[in-house]
Amino acid sequence: MGDTLIERLLALLMLAAPLSVAAQTFSLPEMGDSSREILGAGEENRLGRAIFENFLSSGVVIEDPALQQYIESVGHQVATNAFSDTGGYVFFLVNDRSINAFALPGGYIGVNTGLLIATRTESELAGVLAHELAHVTQRHIARGIEDQTRMKVPKAAAMLAGILLASQGGADAGAAAVSGMMAADLQHQINFTRRHESEADRVGVELLVKSGYDPEGLPDFFQRLYEASRAYGTNVPEFLRTHPVEARRISETRDRIAQLGAAGKRRADPLDYHVAQARALVLSTQSNSTLAARFEGAISSGSNRDVAGQRYGMALSQLRAGDMAGARAETNRLLQSYPEYLPFLLLSAEIDLRSGQPDQALERYQEAAKIYPGDYTLALNQGTALIEVGRYKSAMNLLREQLQPNILRTGAYAMFARAARGAGLISESHASMAEYYALRGDVRQAIEQTELALSAADTTPYHRSRLQAQLETLRNRAAEDET
Ligand SMILES: [Zn+2]
Repeated sequence: MGDTLIERLLALLMLAAPLSVAAQTFSLPEMGDSSREILGAGEENRLGRAIFENFLSSGVVIEDPALQQYIESVGHQVATNAFSDTGGYVFFLVNDRSINAFALPGGYIGVNTGLLIATRTESELAGVLAHELAHVTQRHIARGIEDQTRMKVPKAAAMLAGILLASQGGADAGAAAVSGMMAADLQHQINFTRRHESEADRVGVELLVKSGYDPEGLPDFFQRLYEASRAYGTNVPEFLRTHPVEARRISETRDRIAQLGAAGKRRADPLDYHVAQARALVLSTQSNSTLAARFEGAISSGSNRDVAGQRYGMALSQLRAGDMAGARAETNRLLQSYPEYLPFLLLSAEIDLRSGQPDQALERYQEAAKIYPGDYTLALNQGTALIEVGRYKSAMNLLREQLQPNILRTGAYAMFARAARGAGLISESHASMAEYYALRGDVRQAIEQTELALSAADTTPYHRSRLQAQLETLRNRAAEDET
């Protein structure tokens, strides 16, 4: 086994443990753990974070607060039982309609919108998350990394992110070229074994049982992937294409569920699931006309899919298409049945806002805040409206509570910066953007914004010394990344 850059990247790529249909069935000789050393947890986290930061800056991560909060809530429900001391898992959605999910080093777990849309129950979605989570808890990822001559983390991360994105058809030519090189070598280089896959299925099923999901969601979904891979095999990205999911693996998972005495325990899906699915579908589709027809069909056929979720999707696509009357009619119908359900309240307020009734929208947000105080999604919606009507100081006060050092909550910093700029507070605005970039690992931009904050005419002496200290920290961080 060599240790060229590409070979190490290949090893790293497999850490990402993609779920893609074909990736499940690599049947390559196992290299044996003895030839590899376990990657330190700190290093693993750092690598995973760097890859995730690349995903963020490339714009493929869905940062819609409602969808983000949803995937997190399902992920955390499964992860609560993951008995790993690493903790702090990060669940995120990738704006890509191909069916895929993956675990990065350090517990970063990504799910494509295509996968969310393709699931038929929340337990199927939870099943995929549990499978990926199991790769993390079983240290499949760390075991795959050679502890020899290390690449510099930022460089490796950038390449890896490029490769993963290229494999999903969303990257530039450079990344695609790397991906091509990898494809040529793939057959000989993957430390990705059937054993790991079966183990992830087994542990995943146990996690599902413990967290109250229907464990059959996992084999159900894999079964459908199996069938789909036979029908649409040519759509699978070239470098992941091989044989379909094995029927044997699916039956083994079902046997395991029977052993656990957990077979046949179906579970009703929460409205959140249907709403998130409809929202993901609307936000990741260009053409509104096809969407409206799709939702309309589903509503009138009264299929077993939740009708309220379909109606929500319908109203959202009407709102996007500028059909305010249609959107209003659907939303009112929804509110009659669910008068206090946050996604419907937010939709209703947004329709007000887009139809030139900001005061009514703001009133709705205030009412909603009584039921859901401190909710992140609500605050960002309300903040947008306050900024639009020029109430910058109110927006700042509201958003200040949402400023937290969380890589998935950086939208609040960007919005706070907008509000501050509106209020004429230029230094504070740049300082907030500096925080935004620093949290997302974009050190260069963070330095730039800090310098702008320092040179702004309204910087106070107190802020100046704080900003200078920050600038020094950022410069050290930049220097560290270089080495
Ligand atoms: Zn897997």
